[in-house]
Amino acid sequence: NEQLSIIGAGLAGCEAAWQAAERGLRVRLYEMKPQRYSPAHQSPGLAELVCSNSLRGVALNNAVGLLKEELRRCGALFMAAADATAVPAGGALAVDREEFSAYISARITSHPRITLVREEVTEVPAEGRVIIASGPLTSEDLSREIAHLTGAEHLYFYDAIAPIVEADSIDMNKAWRASRYGKGSDDYLNCPLDENQYHAFVAALRSAEKVPTRNFEKLIHFEGCMPIEEMAARGDLTLAFGPMKPVGLSDPRTGREPFAVVQLRQDNRHASLYNLVGFQTKLTHPEQRRVLRTIPGLETARFARLGSMHRNTFLNAPRCLNRHQQLKKDARLIFAGQITGVEGYVESAASGFLAGLFVGAAPDNQTPPPPATTALGALLAHLADADPDDFQPMNINYGLFPPLEKRLRKRSERRLGLAERALADLEAWWRPIQESLPRSGDPAK
Ligand code: FAD
Repeated sequence: NEQLSIIGAGLAGCEAAWQAAERGLRVRLYEMKPQRYSPAHQSPGLAELVCSNSLRGVALNNAVGLLKEELRRCGALFMAAADATAVPAGGALAVDREEFSAYISARITSHPRITLVREEVTEVPAEGRVIIASGPLTSEDLSREIAHLTGAEHLYFYDAIAPIVEADSIDMNKAWRASRYGKGSDDYLNCPLDENQYHAFVAALRSAEKVPTRNFEKLIHFEGCMPIEEMAARGDLTLAFGPMKPVGLSDPRTGREPFAVVQLRQDNRHASLYNLVGFQTKLTHPEQRRVLRTIPGLETARFARLGSMHRNTFLNAPRCLNRHQQLKKDARLIFAGQITGVEGYVESAASGFLAGLFVGAAPDNQTPPPPATTALGALLAHLADADPDDFQPMNINYGLFPPLEKRLRKRSERRLGLAERALADLEAWWRPIQESLPRSGDPAK
């Protein structure tokens, strides 16, 4: 049997190992703990949840609820572990983190085709296929090696994420569509602020609560991507001369440039999401919602993603990876988990699931990727089709899905319609794959 190497026994690596091994591959799974710990990992167990113990919402009107349901239907080890170790958490699926990790560790270490090797990988194995699932805090030597393999310009070490708003929640009676100086097509939405509104906004940013910076994240300010609250702290007009500069943007309602402008750029192909240009931030999530909703036009904004700034190792996936998560330059190398540019525990496990399935199902990677109408497929489509010049990690959200053919007025109905379509399309994709695959067991047993 072919041997597969997997680097990193986190959420993606364990899922990939399980899926590939269940399909008959012999897997060597490398994990550097306990020899070496990233700044966030603390326990020697596999599939460690480094922060919250919540796997987020359960209901299907939330895209992460749908993603979990898809993984469950496809027999993911991650979901078997989560369901077996769940703790009460209202509308969310939260787990006992120790039991969750112990469940996965036991399954992996007792699998007859998986060998767990507790050592740090500093060079990618030269033989056989390799899944790199070393996560957002990939060790230094391996990061260097990956940068060498992918091209240094395609590997990032921080994300500086600006919030993303659902397009239909923007008040177009206040915002208007225009590019600066009328150049190019009218790709941007602009929200105008008068002088009083601007100064009130700066004051709100200065006094808002921030997420504390961890020691290993301090370097971030040298990377040339400063959070808006930091710019606000530097001077009253720093933002007005920076990301909020109004030059070349006259408001069609007044015929004049406003005092300041917040620009929003289209974020996905379906134009259902817009990001706030230059608005990377470390404000806490409730504070982001509160302060950003003071911007004229965004009073009732719904946020598909809030801003954040983290240490995060990730690839420019649209440039580097194909739809099977393989490196375009060298198909022997496959990436999985947060390093591909997905964000979150469930998304990382989903990416590991797909990598393991693709490698295990057919030697020449002939398994069709899941349709983009499913949550699994929408995640993959984001990695493949996002703008490579502005690629940022992403949680699953309904803005990534192709719109329904039928127009539904209510948001809750639209979301349930998307979920129903997704589960039907998942079934049509999964059934022939499942029937053609050798499977030796069921993780839920
Ligand atoms: P990981 O789960 O990190 O697994 C990677 C594994 O690879 C680790 O076990 C690591 O020890 C190992 N490894 C690294 N380098 C090497 C090497 N050279 N050789 C061998 N092994 C190696 N997401 C959420 O949904 N909720 C949260 O609350 C949340 N909090 C986060 C907090 C922090 C500080 C960070 C950094 C991320 C957080 N995330 C959170 C985001 C992300 O979803 C998780 O980090 C997730 O665990 C990523 O899964 P992964 O499998 O890609 O990487």
